[in-house]
Amino acid sequence: MSAAARAAAVQNIAKKSPVATEGGIRQSLPETFGANVFGLDQMRARLSESAYKALRSCMEHGQELDPALADQVATAMKEWAVERGATHFTHWFQPMTGSTAEKHDSFANLENGRLLMEFSGKALVKGEPDASSFPSGGLRATFEARGYTAWDPTSPAFLRETTNGSTLCIPTAFCSWTGEALDEKTPLLRSTEALNTQAVRLLRLLGDDKVSFVYPTLGCEQEYFLIDRDLYFLRPDLVATGRTMMGAKPPKGQELEDHYFGSIAPRVLAFMQEVDLELWKLGVPVKTRHNEVAPSQYEIAPIFERTTVAVDHNMLCMEVLKQVAQRHGFQCLLHEKPYAGINGSGKHNNWSMSTDTGENLLEPGNSPEANMRFIVVLAAVMRAVDLHADLLRATIAHAGNDHRLGANEAPPAILSIYLGEQLTDVVEALIAGTGRGSERRKDTMRLGVNTLPTLPRDATDRNRTSPFAFTGNKFEFRAVGSTQATAKPNAVLNTIVADSLAFLADEIEKRQGGKGVEAAITEVVTEVFKQHQRIVFNGNGYSAEWHQEAEKRGLPNFRNAVDAIANLGAKKNVELFERFGVLSAKEAESRMNIAFESYCKAIAIEAQSALSLARTMVLPAAQKSLVTVSQSLAAAKGAGAATKAQDKRLLEMAARTESLVEAIDALAKTFDSVEQHGASPHEHAKAYRDQVVPLLVSVREHADVLETMVDDSLWPLPKYREMLFLQ
Ligand code: ADP
Ligand code: MG
Repeated sequence: MSAAARAAAVQNIAKKSPVATEGGIRQSLPETFGANVFGLDQMRARLSESAYKALRSCMEHGQELDPALADQVATAMKEWAVERGATHFTHWFQPMTGSTAEKHDSFANLENGRLLMEFSGKALVKGEPDASSFPSGGLRATFEARGYTAWDPTSPAFLRETTNGSTLCIPTAFCSWTGEALDEKTPLLRSTEALNTQAVRLLRLLGDDKVSFVYPTLGCEQEYFLIDRDLYFLRPDLVATGRTMMGAKPPKGQELEDHYFGSIAPRVLAFMQEVDLELWKLGVPVKTRHNEVAPSQYEIAPIFERTTVAVDHNMLCMEVLKQVAQRHGFQCLLHEKPYAGINGSGKHNNWSMSTDTGENLLEPGNSPEANMRFIVVLAAVMRAVDLHADLLRATIAHAGNDHRLGANEAPPAILSIYLGEQLTDVVEALIAGTGRGSERRKDTMRLGVNTLPTLPRDATDRNRTSPFAFTGNKFEFRAVGSTQATAKPNAVLNTIVADSLAFLADEIEKRQGGKGVEAAITEVVTEVFKQHQRIVFNGNGYSAEWHQEAEKRGLPNFRNAVDAIANLGAKKNVELFERFGVLSAKEAESRMNIAFESYCKAIAIEAQSALSLARTMVLPAAQKSLVTVSQSLAAAKGAGAATKAQDKRLLEMAARTESLVEAIDALAKTFDSVEQHGASPHEHAKAYRDQVVPLLVSVREHADVLETMVDDSLWPLPKYREMLFLQ
């Protein structure tokens, strides 16, 4: 790699034009949608009426299939897949690496020398991948390396079409033979069960006898960057770590605010169109696409779905973004902070709960019953987030998100809830109504009697500084990072809300005796609002005043991933997981250790990448530049020219180069000693955070200054102005 390669890459970009999708995009959207999913239509067409009904019920309720049904379903699925060119199937799962895993098996079976395409119910329902190379956080000794995958029937099977064939993918959960979860999906499934149980129980108390099933819903807005692939390959830091470890500020960043919702560049639009097509085929209901705030930053968002499906669909969305980008000569960057000094990327996690009767439990009502239900559910969410802000914070804690949370572009690391003025008024009025015994308040706000004022949706959605905002009929958890698998934050959200729904149900049951259920509800809800009101904050989350105010209110502020991850091991949180059967104490501890280990690995890779760049690319460029400058100065001096200002520049550049080498040496030495650190995963992560991270900053500082001094024709690394603006 050299400065010449950089120049060639830049020239090459000018020649690129939008890439047409093979076969074109001509089909109608309804025909395309779900074409590669073994969905309800396929099932109805290929299964007997009774098998179809039984399967649907398993899918809706997340139950296991009995073996006879599994055989029928497997055969139908295989026939469908083989007709569409599939040769292999795979159990597709989400180990605790944050991505997905697959091991392909062909349908082939030999019988008397003849090859048959077969797929049994057993193979559909259960697989046995070797579990030994996936992180287990100390849960499973390597000699008991076996784990199994089990189909999650709430999420349909789908076909992945690639250049040379198709593969049938079966979304599965991944467990050890001793029953411990080794993946992100299992706790998510367990948490949806807990939420269902407690929500139905509470609805019964509120007089609802129609709803028999409640499930969480999720819509993830996914942000990402695109960079031209020719430039990408000249940035070993991007390739290794997903972010630029150095790079001086460009003359133009995002200050003009001309990118957000701007017209989409033709090459990018062609890419987005193909992404949409691929995702529609996979049944992922993507709906919006647009330019984001930072240059070369974009967003894609789907229509929300049942969480267990939406989580899988977000994983597919990230995969498809990366794969399609390559066909269009781009690299898709999902990292939370690929570039310093401009906005990073997040994943707004829109969360709510739906009933099997088709109602959204966070929809403010326009009948007294619906109104009461909304207020009770709101109280549960407020209590959940206030009591477990620490745990929620832990679900978004990783090295990448540390660059984002708390910077003035993303939600602060302090969790609070934005309710908007109108809803805050309602909550305050309820508190005042009982608390101060004001007659007027009591009349207007007594639950179940009067309806809520209609909340204009848009008025509630304009505070972008809140990490957890009520946006009309759902909560938007905005602190989730763009690379993250969403299973973890949603499993925790479901669990903490299940806990609060259970608390409300318990209290209402206890108190309804004498005073009647409606009075009991009013009393409990009012108490919960009063006790947890401190979590509500409608102001500017970026302001220094909020940090002081939050401290006064006693809200926790976990400033970095390492402090936040430790919350996974807190007694209250482990007990919560155990109480709702979401994680055992052992499983919770293993997840905490994995998170610490991932943090250490991420920083270790960054350290090695920064060292390599600084030593082999930045330093040689600076040294070459020093040679040419000093030669030129010697010549000028020989000719009797004045060189005072130039001498000063030369000395500055030489001093910077010296500082860079000192920083490199300090980083190398510290990294070696931290890497050898034998302490606990927590201590190890602290050492990386406290000793290595500051030295990464110092190496970068010197490299970035040198970038502004060294002869541009000697600089080997694509610069911010090129990576951000050339496509
Ligand atoms: P924006 O936040 O950009 O203004 P919207 O609020 O319309 O956009 O939607 C953002 C995301 O929230 C979309 O993915 C949408 O499908 C999702 N969403 C809407 N309603 C719900 C719900 N009840 N549960 C979960 N997600 C929802
Ligand atoms: Mg939104």
